[in-house]
Amino acid sequence: MYLENLALKDFRNFSTLQTDFDPQINIFLGQNAQGKTNLLEAIYFLALTRSHRTSTDKELIRFGSKYAGLQGKVHKSQVEVELKLRLSPKGKKAWINRLEQKKLSKYVGQMNAILFSPEDLALVKGAPALRRRFMDLEFGQINAEYLYFSSQYRQVLQQKNNYLKQLSLGKAKDKIFLDVLSDQLAGIAAEIIYRRLNFVKLLNSYAHDAHSQISANKEQLEIYYRPSINEIEAGDQVDEIYHKVLDSFHKNKANEIRKGTTLTGPHRDDLLFKINGKNAHDYASQGQQRTIALSIKLAEIQLVHHLTNEYPILLLDDVMSELDHNRQSSLLNYIHGKTQTFITTTDLEGISWEVVKTPRIYYIK
Ligand code: ATP
Ligand code: MG
Repeated sequence: MYLENLALKDFRNFSTLQTDFDPQINIFLGQNAQGKTNLLEAIYFLALTRSHRTSTDKELIRFGSKYAGLQGKVHKSQVEVELKLRLSPKGKKAWINRLEQKKLSKYVGQMNAILFSPEDLALVKGAPALRRRFMDLEFGQINAEYLYFSSQYRQVLQQKNNYLKQLSLGKAKDKIFLDVLSDQLAGIAAEIIYRRLNFVKLLNSYAHDAHSQISANKEQLEIYYRPSINEIEAGDQVDEIYHKVLDSFHKNKANEIRKGTTLTGPHRDDLLFKINGKNAHDYASQGQQRTIALSIKLAEIQLVHHLTNEYPILLLDDVMSELDHNRQSSLLNYIHGKTQTFITTTDLEGISWEVVKTPRIYYIK
């Protein structure tokens, strides 16, 4: 798929913008603080209705404005889709082909975008919350049910945690209502964990291949899903997971009431990366972290293609200068001719021109 054009209104530092794109390679060239990343963020937001760098949508509205608007036409192999979003401090509205979508989960997935930025290094060494956010964003855009269940989960988890707080403060007494909430939460948790286990398995096989290619077969990458409930295993069915989650809630009940929060479940799960059998979180060098992050992004391209039969749009923020020449070439060769790509850079010198032959260059000022 590719994005044919984009229109912005009061998005970040763009008051208005209207532009066409090349179906292959687009380069956003400009000095610091001109709006290159903002433009990538706009494309990402149009696809996912979420930003990669903030969870506060208000930040995306141009200083002094009340609304922000984004619109773009996406070409897929069979159809063309017109996407539109409008953001206000109260929330966001979405349209597909001028039809307003009551549920954002119906909108997300029309356009797939994979973003690679220097912050992705933190995926390996950063906090578990980053890896969960990664799963939610990436799996949410390829599976509408995943997106639906993760938003349900957030709501019911908050409800259960609020009730646990009430119990811990002695303001509520009814433990049966707690059991009702736990049961409901376990049902949704099972749907999420089941999908995460499956997607991580696929991601693992693609990332393993990409990683051996980039490291010239010297290193083996493995990715595992690490549930906070130890009994859960890869291969478990939804029903088995549900019973294991419910068991864990029951076992931890007294503790949860004391602490006023839910101690196990998808919101406490993590991903584990191993290089040649060793935990990358503890041992990976800077360069290895970069290669892992890169392999995961390449794997996502394959994952999206495997599940939707379309290649996603690839957004590369400032990564060319971060990669050595060999890795740049493997990245560009890997995507060559498959995905529409947007690259930001402050300097054309940093680009592997032998692969990027005829890009369209945009000066951002
Ligand atoms: P760099 O090369 O340093 O990465 P960049 O071109 O990617 O720079 P951006 O991150 O896109 O720069 O940001 C450009 C400018 O947008 C910044 O100066 C920032 O202050 C401004 N900006 C961010 N949010 C808003 C907003 N809501 N309204 C207006 N301007 C904003
Ligand atoms: Mg930038």
